[in-house]
Amino acid sequence: MKTRAAVLFAPHEPFRIETLDLQPPKSREVLVKLQAAGVCHSDWHIATGDTKHPLPAVCGHEGSGIVEAVGEGVASVKPGERVALNWAPNCGSCFYCAHGRPALCEAYRGLIWQGVLMDGTPRLSLGGKPVYHYCALACFSEYAVVPEASCVKLGVETEPRIAALVGCAVSTGVGAAVNTVEIPAGASVAVLGAGGIGSCVVLGARLRGAGTVVVVDRAKEKMKLALELGATHALEAGPESPRRIRELTGGRGADFVFEAVGVPAVQEQALECVRPGGTLVLVGLAPMGTSTQLPGAIITRRELTVRGCYYGTCEPARDFPRFARWHAEGKLPLEKLVTRTYALDEINAAYADLLAGKLARGVIVF
Ligand SMILES: [Zn+2]
Ligand SMILES: [Zn+2]
Repeated sequence: MKTRAAVLFAPHEPFRIETLDLQPPKSREVLVKLQAAGVCHSDWHIATGDTKHPLPAVCGHEGSGIVEAVGEGVASVKPGERVALNWAPNCGSCFYCAHGRPALCEAYRGLIWQGVLMDGTPRLSLGGKPVYHYCALACFSEYAVVPEASCVKLGVETEPRIAALVGCAVSTGVGAAVNTVEIPAGASVAVLGAGGIGSCVVLGARLRGAGTVVVVDRAKEKMKLALELGATHALEAGPESPRRIRELTGGRGADFVFEAVGVPAVQEQALECVRPGGTLVLVGLAPMGTSTQLPGAIITRRELTVRGCYYGTCEPARDFPRFARWHAEGKLPLEKLVTRTYALDEINAAYADLLAGKLARGVIVF
């Protein structure tokens, strides 16, 4: 079949809308008609070439849609059902899956950077030449063939654009605050970066009963939104941020600091915001190959904990429905995160708005 998709042919080039060939789903694969796809910064690392990925590729890893057809052996979903998409499909049986850490699943870890599905091949092509899938999803497309393990039913009626966000920003950000670490009631929290992920960290921290929640960003609009979502203070990012965070947290620094940008310099600054004995959680995805100077001498003397957090340490089958239910119960006002929606043809404008700091989340709707 054919599908219209936003294709990235080379780094530093705009996305181009093309009509691609899409093969039917193979064994344990599902054809999904996309309804919404979030505009996330991780895709942009491919557009800039910071993340190496085979090209041409269809990006988009935060999607929701309706199951259109299923391949052989698919048992968990059937045509007509709505799903949110998990960008880290897991096998269910490796060491990490068996230990409740599916985001670390060994089955897809290598393949994810090859732009293919679980059998090592892509389903998309143009003029007979392969087109690669980002994160086995490729959601910037009207239709996508994805692994069955990527399809998660939410169990409650959820608007497609919200369901899409559950697939990345919500699971990563809320998951960081409720899964990766245990935030005791009354704890102080600082969040560096108030985009889609940082906003969701704020929501998760509030759910856990955090006391002071300080958000740091450059964009006024995002700081305003963070306050609406429950942050107690919003600071403009700058060299003074660690000092100001200490002032707001009894002179010590925050109990938990979340870096939600994925920039080495911000990760380094984030460490200065943690109180002795506190925890730094690295949530933002820094481009592959970059490195961060975190001073061991200080980590030791202050007994700091530095935690990586990939995909909110989430178990999609458990957490996607849980987050959707919290949304339905009014505990996660996720609708506030959607700043704007775009048509697929407006994807370059959507990324321009993201880079200009105008969006908590922009969502492509189909
Ligand atoms: Zn994402
Ligand atoms: Zn596994």
